[in-house]
Amino acid sequence: MYTGSCFCKKITVELSAEPQVVISGSAYSYNFIVGADDYKISGTPEATDKVADSGNKVKNYYCKDCGSPLYGGAVAESGIIERVVIKGGIFDDVKNIQNRKPSVEIYVEQRLDWVKPVEDCTQLEGMPS
Ligand SMILES: [Zn+2]
Repeated sequence: MYTGSCFCKKITVELSAEPQVVISGSAYSYNFIVGADDYKISGTPEATDKVADSGNKVKNYYCKDCGSPLYGGAVAESGIIERVVIKGGIFDDVKNIQNRKPSVEIYVEQRLDWVKPVEDCTQLEGMPS
């Protein structure tokens, strides 16, 4: 079971499925990706909207009290986020992170010179399609 929260603990996240683990090569961002039905939020996060490089409408959620970034993703035409990208750093149990090495590394063309590719990771120039 994966459970996590923002810094002030007013918002909690629970996963009900094993996540895909993705790391960004541009500078480390360690994320868990699950389906729309595979997570549960308690509390009331705030959202910001932006348009991604792909043109997709994206929502990113954070705690309005402590500012912790929590999760987000591309908003489908149905209005839901079908692949939810959750910040790996919010989860409580370090063993979950130790046991879940990333399987995909994204934005590798923006990798900093002093950062090495993650071994055995699929290397992608942008986001997974
Ligand atoms: Zn908070």
